[in-house]
Amino acid sequence: MPPRRRRIYEGKAKILFEGPEPGTLIQYFKDDATAFNNKKKGVISGKGVLNNRISEYLMVRLADIGVPTHFMRRLNMREQLVREVEIIPIEVVVRNIAAGSISERLGIDEGTPLPRSIVEYYYKSDDLDDPMVSEEHITAFGWATPQDLDDIMAMALRINDFLNGLMLGVGIRLVDFKLEFGRLWEDEQMRIVLADEITPDSCRLWDVETNEKLDKDRFRRDMGKVEEAYQEVARRLGILPEAGPQDIKGPKLVQ
Ligand code: UDP
Repeated sequence: MPPRRRRIYEGKAKILFEGPEPGTLIQYFKDDATAFNNKKKGVISGKGVLNNRISEYLMVRLADIGVPTHFMRRLNMREQLVREVEIIPIEVVVRNIAAGSISERLGIDEGTPLPRSIVEYYYKSDDLDDPMVSEEHITAFGWATPQDLDDIMAMALRINDFLNGLMLGVGIRLVDFKLEFGRLWEDEQMRIVLADEITPDSCRLWDVETNEKLDKDRFRRDMGKVEEAYQEVARRLGILPEAGPQDIKGPKLVQ
């Protein structure tokens, strides 16, 4: 059970608690999984622990190359300390290979490489089922400015290039993924940083050799062996969590 702290927000796969200092939050990763806008619900045991580790690892690697993120440090098996940001209500999807909604919408066979990476925007709204929107909608309705979108697009493509290489190095094809960004104020200055998570919940990851799915599509499509797939991603990245019930204090990358 999550510890008793002031709960700021509870989402489908994570809970946000008040952090130890102003401007910080604690992100708690649950084992709960949902798909098709909450119509399918389930539990993937151990998922929260793996996602906490995987997202930590990827955010730290991205920070290493200069991508600003909300991540501060991992606190224990299921929690990480992050900077409190104002989430921009847009899901940014980057695609390299056709799968999921683009295959359905445009009739492109799943697995077809796209002529170039494609960035799409979706408005975050459970009530509306996260509708796809264009830059025009985003700027006209004031969800982000044209300058914000320039920054977001540049970061998304940089993250894509980096993660593509990182994943290929461990025999995984990065088919597509979803990012969220937030506004962070420091001394009257606003900058946009990567927020939320990068995990097999938010990416499509296929084995390079066999095209086996190593992501949430196993849950969406009732393919079984979901936890094993997440574990395999963590194993290949060299970050399987230590055994044992005790919480681990502070960041500790095992490679
Ligand atoms: N995605 C996500 N959250 C969402 C919608 C999509 O993390 O609410 C991720 C999804 O896991 C995939 C990518 O974004 O890696 C593209 O998803 P798509 O538009 O194909 O939609 P889906 O098939 O997930 O409905």
